[in-house]
Amino acid sequence: MVKTIIIEQHGGPEQFKLVDREVGGPGPGQVRIRHHACGLNFIDVYQRSGLYPMQLPHAMGMEGAGVIEAVGEGVKHLKPGDRAAYASMPPGAYCEARVMPAAQVCPLPDGLSFEQGAAMMLKGMTVEYLFHRTTPIQKGDSVLFHAAAGGVGLMACQWARSEGIRLIGTAGSDEKCQLALDHGAEACINYRSPDWVAQVRALTGGKGVDVVMDAVGKDTFDGSLDCLRPLGMLISFGNASGPVPPFNLATLAAKGSLKVTRPTLFTHIADHETCQAMARHLFDKVSSGAVEITIEQKFPLAQVADAHRALEGRKTTGQTVITVG
Ligand code: NDP
Repeated sequence: MVKTIIIEQHGGPEQFKLVDREVGGPGPGQVRIRHHACGLNFIDVYQRSGLYPMQLPHAMGMEGAGVIEAVGEGVKHLKPGDRAAYASMPPGAYCEARVMPAAQVCPLPDGLSFEQGAAMMLKGMTVEYLFHRTTPIQKGDSVLFHAAAGGVGLMACQWARSEGIRLIGTAGSDEKCQLALDHGAEACINYRSPDWVAQVRALTGGKGVDVVMDAVGKDTFDGSLDCLRPLGMLISFGNASGPVPPFNLATLAAKGSLKVTRPTLFTHIADHETCQAMARHLFDKVSSGAVEITIEQKFPLAQVADAHRALEGRKTTGQTVITVG
């Protein structure tokens, strides 16, 4: 029996239940992993609240790290005793141990701790695809990145610096802006200020940025379009403030033949080889010191509701891990 967090109904953090569950052996293509830590991500909030509906009851959590206990038939890249980390569907990482598909579970290099592994996989592979697999971004290009002091944000600031990309961040307080600057943002604007769009444009000499990476959603979408140069690209990849309402495609023509895409990590890592290559790229960035994993908050498994309250309340910065055991 292992301790597992489940929800039986969508709603607030009060919906979490800590239950004892049996974990069986892995079937073909699966592994059983015993967690040392798991990650906290905003997608967990969407799944808990019902913005991204799930069949209930369901276990929760999308990211973890630990030791492989058993592998099913056909699994070649992992063996019992291996250290491993993952970001993966289906949800179920908030637990002591689980059986799950092996394809997205990656060997964790010895130099990286379980907590780093649990904190970096979902956010780090997201940063990898944003900068390398979504639209061509060259050294010297400018990127506007919203919520730059958050989990994905602080990794993006450092990743951009390591690639010579000029990242302009936004954040909800001056202290958060300073944190983004400390992690490599070239500039950071407090977007609670009503003229944040004008401030971004001023930083580009009025031209507009090449790319916007926007996971804040509803509150920033229109302003993000106004920050782009003609032919620029908006990558809308999340909804921390709420989903983007339907909009008129002709707006893109009127604002300068803009492009918009709405990607998700899970399309990128669906293929086993691609997922492993993205993870290796991420591990190299972290092992080389180019990207540091900033674990700012830790919560024990039984207090995952408090972790959600902090994340939704904009009280966290950088990475948050859920400790197990
Ligand atoms: P963060 O640590 O970045 O937390 C979210 C941040 O969003 C907050 O700290 C806050 O920063 C900002 N924010 C702005 N408005 C609100 C609001 N109304 N309520 C709450 N927060 C708000 O979370 P993650 O690093 O886990 O994820 C960042 C974003 O990236 C999320 O939207 C997530 O869904 C998305 N994502 C998308 C993926 C994809 O593949 N599509 C994969 C991974 C993440 P501030 O106070 O500075 O405004």
